[in-house]
Amino acid sequence: MPPALRTFTRRTLTILTLSTATAAGAGYFYLNSGPAYPPTTHESRRPPPPWSPPPRAAMIDALKRSANSEDTQFDILVVGGGATGAGVAVDAASRGLRVALVEREDFASGTSSKSTKLVHGGVRYLQKAVFELDYEQYKLVREALRERRVFLQTAPYLSHMLPIMLPIYKYWQVPYYWSGCKLYDLLAGKENMESSYLMSKGKALEQFPMLKSDGLVGAVASTTTPV
Ligand SMILES: Cc1cc2nc3c(=O)[nH]c(=O)nc-3n(C[C@H](O)[C@H](O)[C@H](O)COP(=O)(O)OP(=O)(O)OC[C@H]3O[C@@H](n4cnc5c(N)ncnc54)[C@H](O)[C@@H]3O)c2cc1C
Repeated sequence: MPPALRTFTRRTLTILTLSTATAAGAGYFYLNSGPAYPPTTHESRRPPPPWSPPPRAAMIDALKRSANSEDTQFDILVVGGGATGAGVAVDAASRGLRVALVEREDFASGTSSKSTKLVHGGVRYLQKAVFELDYEQYKLVREALRERRVFLQTAPYLSHMLPIMLPIYKYWQVPYYWSGCKLYDLLAGKENMESSYLMSKGKALEQFPMLKSDGLVGAVASTTTPV
């Protein structure tokens, strides 16, 4: 190789290595920056005291009365008592606002009754973000991870970390699922709970002896948070 080309190649390699290291360092710093959340304590894990709502008739009466007097007026009216409405109502009430919530059927009778009840960070949005190069989906993953962290901090009695295992029956799926979970771990930065890892077929069957062993090649273990 001519000396000029060798110098050029060496310089290019050095520049490439330095830029990759800088980009990796900056990415790591970005993903791990932001507010640090205090660890949960015995006190914060204690559920709030039990509360029985007033009878339905009394609540409807209070709502009607609020139209006539400034003293009984509500600051916010939330329409719909699904997960979103209930969350908005709790958040607003905990900030000292007077909140009314109306529901036309029954609480959590809509989509919220069908939910898998996982406070997830959005692995499937990450799949979309990567395959469809969709930045909005990426932002959604970051937001979901951040919100999960806040949720676990503010209401630790409602959810907890639960290890989950995904059995794999095709060899090509091993690097696919593993790299997907690892990318998710990386993006989660300090919001991550436990790093995902690969399990051999033997280990997977040891954990779940009822798994179909025919064609099983291994498993990916990660964590989720049920409510
Ligand atoms: C199969 C499935 C699994 C899912 N799993 C998960 C999961 O694991 N984790 C997760 O985070 N999300 C999950 N989701 C998504 C999640 O369930 C929804 O995002 C969430 O339940 C939406 O809640 P919502 O309050 O916006 O809607 P809804 O639960 O539909 O609530 C809307 C409420 O408004 C009421 N309403 C509508 N109009 C009026 C009106 N005019 N006056 C009064 N009341 C009204 C309705 O009766 C209803 O009760 C899942 C969804 C599905 C379908």
